[in-house]
Amino acid sequence: MTTKIGIVGYGNLGKGVEGAISQNKDLELVAVFTRRDPAALVITSDAKVCHVDEAESFIGKIDVMIICGGSATDLPEQVPHFAQWFNTIDSFDTHAKIPEFFDAVNEVAANSKTTSIISVGWDPGLFSLNRVLGEAVLPQGDTYTFWGDGLSQGHSDAVRRIEGVKKAVQYTLPVPEAVDRVRNGESPTLTTREKHTRVCYVVTEPNADQDAISQAITAMPNYFDEYDTTVNFISENEFDENHTGMPHGGFVIRSGESAAGHKQIVEFSLKLESNPYFTSSVLVAYARAAHRLSQKGQYGALTVFDVPFSDISPKSPEQLRAELL
Ligand code: NDP
Repeated sequence: MTTKIGIVGYGNLGKGVEGAISQNKDLELVAVFTRRDPAALVITSDAKVCHVDEAESFIGKIDVMIICGGSATDLPEQVPHFAQWFNTIDSFDTHAKIPEFFDAVNEVAANSKTTSIISVGWDPGLFSLNRVLGEAVLPQGDTYTFWGDGLSQGHSDAVRRIEGVKKAVQYTLPVPEAVDRVRNGESPTLTTREKHTRVCYVVTEPNADQDAISQAITAMPNYFDEYDTTVNFISENEFDENHTGMPHGGFVIRSGESAAGHKQIVEFSLKLESNPYFTSSVLVAYARAAHRLSQKGQYGALTVFDVPFSDISPKSPEQLRAELL
């Protein structure tokens, strides 16, 4: 059975999803939908490029829409809108707002008899699954999530908005001593500052005041003031050579104790050369599941917690039992 896919929004994730579909024989990309002029959008595959307003005419021709808009303003609008017509997948990652986002999507999807798997990706997503796994198996213990080494898009944007900054990236790094203590089973209580540090690479406009920029970064409330931050000023050449990728990763660690006082450490880790290409690969696997679950009549909003592992795999249950159990 082939699952026919549409992509809504052609940014980093949109491109990544297009690439990931080409690695899966049971998935077919039908069309890319954009709010921009479709005639001006160049895509990599030979799928159709359409304006988002044309999407309704694809009912019955697309099994799952993968919605690739931004979490801040696009997804809260786009996912309920498309869920009235299509099964959907999204990567909504504003953790504090997931419950209200779930409710809004669920209302539409349940009424429309569509299946929407929300907040798919690695965090939220694969990391969330591992947090649940650790807690369920080791009810006595502590869960730690460390991010990095990785580029934070939000923090990089915040630095770029400072006057005199031409280009900037921000990397989040786990503090090695903190990670070691957790891996050793010490179960430490760690402050924000003790868990991660931040490193910025900045290219300034000519004659910009580097001391003022450095201070504006390190004192920025909510973004940097609770962290130890290093600011490096570099040339534009160095920036273009070394800081245009989007690496990321991190690890979820459950440090617990089973009965009889045995220390048990469970760790899941990711080291990603490209955050958007990896996230897109996760979205595509869950698109397969959304199609299957809708065929089984499981409508409404779901999260990764509600999706059986066997439904994200292209292999049959028989194959899975024989090969991977
Ligand atoms: P982008 O900013 O690259 O794309 C967002 C939207 O902006 C696109 O859908 C596109 O819509 C529009 N757009 C993209 N490029 C341009 C352009 N050159 N000019 C005008 N508009 C453009 O975001 P990402 O794809 O990097 O990320 C999307 C979201 O995914 C993020 O907000 C993040 O929260 C989430 N995410 C979640 C992860 C997880 O683990 N759960 C991991 C990584 C990201 P259109 O084509 O309609 O114009």
